[in-house]
Amino acid sequence: MNSKIWLNKLTRREFRTRMNAGELKLAILPVAAIEQHLEHLAMEHDWRSARLIAGAVAERLAPQALVAEGLMAGISEHHMVHPGTLSLQPGTFLTVLSDLIDSLVRAGFTNILVLNGHGGNIAACDAVWDQFLRKFQVNVHFFPYWNVLTKEDAEELLDSGSRLPEDLPGHAQEFETAMALHLFPENVRQDVWKDQQDPNPSMATAEKGQAFYERIIDRVANYASEMIDGTRTHAVPPYHP
Ligand SMILES: [Zn+2]
Repeated sequence: MNSKIWLNKLTRREFRTRMNAGELKLAILPVAAIEQHLEHLAMEHDWRSARLIAGAVAERLAPQALVAEGLMAGISEHHMVHPGTLSLQPGTFLTVLSDLIDSLVRAGFTNILVLNGHGGNIAACDAVWDQFLRKFQVNVHFFPYWNVLTKEDAEELLDSGSRLPEDLPGHAQEFETAMALHLFPENVRQDVWKDQQDPNPSMATAEKGQAFYERIIDRVANYASEMIDGTRTHAVPPYHP
């Protein structure tokens, strides 16, 4: 992968030169989770998906976008009954996320896309986002990557009857399993997935995963490029009079 899109691969001189030249227009900050994904998918699923999508989108927008990795775990208390899940308390997650956004703002970014890959992070972020906008005074977005998919995509590509948008991403179900079969098939334990009571995941194929992935990259890149060109902005919400 192109090392010029990963913030942590740059030296301070390389970063400084590109920022001072006005080249860097957008930071993409992937967030997700490290949590159980039923018996057949590896725990890194949400994190690895969000990171890969962030990287592919940044490559499309090169050299204007950088991926800033700094937070792998998410809000997963509801999965802690399955040992191995790593969970942050909502307050911890939001504090770390706020500190990372603050670091990017202080580095000079005025467009920041927090690209989310885990449903459990949504409620906490939605609840505080207007406060983040007032605090940071930049165009900072929280965006679950599957929001770019439509009802028509689901009808065309899902055989399990999962509907959009209400059933996405669907925990380790057909959609996530298809994405894994395409992006990192070594994470799918095909010797056990058909033994589970729920037949939904075993309807996944790598071909469907590829179709989903390509649509996601196209549309998230489009969303991000609109942030860069100024046509997709979050205004700072009003203050108390
Ligand atoms: Zn997941």
